[in-house]
Amino acid sequence: MTELKVLAVASEVAPLVKTGGLADVAGALPLALKAEGVATRTLVPGYPAVLAKLERAEIVHDFIELFGGPATLLAAEASGLDLFVLDAPHLYARPGGPYVDEEGKDYADNAFRFAALAKAGSAIGRGLLESFRPDILHAHDWQAGLAPAYLHYSGGPRPGALFTIHNIAFQGKFQKSILDDLGLPPHSFALEGVEYYGGVGFLKAGLQFADRITTVSPSYAVEITTAEFGMGLEGLLRARAGVLSGILNGVDENVWNPAADARIAAPFGASSLAARVKNKSALQRRLGLKEDERAFLIGAVSRLSWQKGLDLLLEDLSFFIERNAQLALLGAGDRELENAFAAAARVHAGRIGVQLGYDEDLAHLIQAGCDAFLVPSRFEPCGLTQLYALRYGAVPIVARVGGLRDTIIDANEMALAAGVATGFQFSPVTADALSFALRKAAGLFEGEAAWRVLQANGMKTDVSWRGPARKYAELYRSVIAEEPR
Ligand code: ADP
Repeated sequence: MTELKVLAVASEVAPLVKTGGLADVAGALPLALKAEGVATRTLVPGYPAVLAKLERAEIVHDFIELFGGPATLLAAEASGLDLFVLDAPHLYARPGGPYVDEEGKDYADNAFRFAALAKAGSAIGRGLLESFRPDILHAHDWQAGLAPAYLHYSGGPRPGALFTIHNIAFQGKFQKSILDDLGLPPHSFALEGVEYYGGVGFLKAGLQFADRITTVSPSYAVEITTAEFGMGLEGLLRARAGVLSGILNGVDENVWNPAADARIAAPFGASSLAARVKNKSALQRRLGLKEDERAFLIGAVSRLSWQKGLDLLLEDLSFFIERNAQLALLGAGDRELENAFAAAARVHAGRIGVQLGYDEDLAHLIQAGCDAFLVPSRFEPCGLTQLYALRYGAVPIVARVGGLRDTIIDANEMALAAGVATGFQFSPVTADALSFALRKAAGLFEGEAAWRVLQANGMKTDVSWRGPARKYAELYRSVIAEEPR
């Protein structure tokens, strides 16, 4: 098998910089692809947090002018990843996050900050560097969306282009007036170009010009071709359905391994599930919940936004009052939701425990200590937390959408009889259906033996990157086979 060279282009990569699941994928997939004969280099912006963590950085190219200032391209290593880092201080040397300033407002020049990333990516794709000529450019999400467009409009031989949608809600739509400054030709402002509802669409551009489009689960790949989930892009996605597919995300098994997790109170494995109870007690203490081994403890770790559906819990808290049930929630996001959960925790102290903010340690302890893990998303491209839950013997209760639908086997009668269920799915995504699922789960939890089967099945499930990496490698090779471009 000849080795394939892939240039990944991503605006975040774990563990260097992370705001969501995209970073986890960008950080883990390259490592898993090595076993498939694929060598990946990932191009990321030189945010201060990234520059600070580089090992063995070396300048490989100078851009005299890149959207308003000079920039340097570094080849570097960090955390086992081979990187290209675009060091462009005028674009990235800022306090605040990758996309927003310290007040939480989008940077006014985000279009150029990420056009620069895409431009550098397409230049490497076109052979800028003698030392690394990729066979494939793999662009992730809207921030990398212009890379396939730049490849298209610059002419000459190009690598294959893959585009992955992690979340279609973020589309990178900007005013038409910036077209020229982006270095795109006037004729690109067209339906079959980068035009998107009267503006320039970065995500749209990626979808338009990639040879293959993937998203992060087979079900989401179908859902986004419909008006309900496509968020305006369903027409284009229907037109390109022939090259659209879904590949699930995996889990970083080094980070999420209950048998060797330094962040939890007591490590455990499938054959030592009894030790889990120590984590349950530790979690109950940590969140001010009543220390009770028999309480049905439901965990959740999530951004607090409409997408994630946790507001459905607030509509009806009767379950937690009527049953011996508890909630352990770690989340951050919408101020209104944060306040509402904080208030619920005050009113129902001992039963509802809430920690607001971002906390990796607590995220692990919740997975290790809760009995069931809740993901009630209104839409969910893949979702990672339900996969961690499977690994940690926490039984997932999930909305029947997207990747949640594809990764959890619902405990319906047949699945229970066949001994294959791993959790609970509910639909539609409403407070009533959620409440019904919680009550059904509580019933099985009380049945102990049946619950242990659910836990054991979950812990046996392969949620590694091996399967997904094989699928990406196959897709890369199928694009290469289509030459010439
Ligand atoms: P999304 O990318 O839409 O937020 P995913 O389930 O794909 O959802 O990924 C979320 C990731 O962020 C998971 O690794 C999860 O553990 C983590 N996470 C979310 N909220 C928090 C939080 N408040 N504290 C710690 N980790 C969090």
